Amino acid sequence: MKRILILAVLVLAALTAIYFVQRRPRNDAVSPAALVDGSADWERDLTRAPMNLTRLSDEEEVRIGNRLAGQYEAMEPNTDPESQALERYVELVGFRVAAQAKRRLPWSFHVIDDADLINAFALPGGHVFVGRGLLDQMTSEDELAFVLGHEIEHVDHYHAVERVQMEAQLHHFDLDAISALAQIPMSIWQEGYTKDEELEADRESLRAVVAAGYSPQGAMKLLERWTRLHGEYVIHAETPVDELSELAISGLNGYFRSHPLPSERLAQVRKVIAEDRLPMNRPLTPFHLEYEVTSGAGPKDPS
Ligand SMILES: [Zn+2]
Repeated sequence: MKRILILAVLVLAALTAIYFVQRRPRNDAVSPAALVDGSADWERDLTRAPMNLTRLSDEEEVRIGNRLAGQYEAMEPNTDPESQALERYVELVGFRVAAQAKRRLPWSFHVIDDADLINAFALPGGHVFVGRGLLDQMTSEDELAFVLGHEIEHVDHYHAVERVQMEAQLHHFDLDAISALAQIPMSIWQEGYTKDEELEADRESLRAVVAAGYSPQGAMKLLERWTRLHGEYVIHAETPVDELSELAISGLNGYFRSHPLPSERLAQVRKVIAEDRLPMNRPLTPFHLEYEVTSGAGPKDPS
């Protein structure tokens, strides 16, 4: 009798399992839209898939980065004296943050003199590029430090070198060949990384800028502003009124597309500030005044 009971319980359990498996709603219905979305996701996943990447030596990484930086600088020569002065300022802030990086690399900082370029990117080996359009968005040095720190962390955590290694594997080229590096467009660096890598770059940048003496308020204020702009111009697609030109907005949209939602980044920054008890009372450092006065960016001189 006991055996029959056990058997009955087992059969019932098996039948229940079969019933639930079959009842499970099928979400994988194939519609054209699903196909398009699916393939786009897949493509993105493919390019992001962890491959068997052998860690390059720092020397090798620096050599690749120098080669790429030379190519891009030749395409966008920075000859305007005002922009060169701005570049020196970006270097000062960048070196201060890069001193907190774990890797000892020949860090260098470049301004791309394009007011519509609202983006920044880093190359393997420690070259950080920032568009003037993004610099025009800054209202404090602490915000600039956070942006540069984010790029520094993409290098410090090997995101940038892995990106170029993936590109080489996908297109079957040899990173030792100069001609192969010449095929890598600047745009791949502006596409951003995986969400995890982007959030890691934010977290580590926040910690680095605070260790370098900056205020954590910079990161928070910048992401608060971007959350608001994203709501206004992307979610509600409002017509730009006074703050930003249409070109700047399309540039900003590109930046938003290549990064996690600013609201999500802001939530993480707030969490790190609370968990690490970062000094929120530390005052903000004004953005390089000479540049502000000549470009009109940031808060106006009251005089
Ligand atoms: Zn990033």
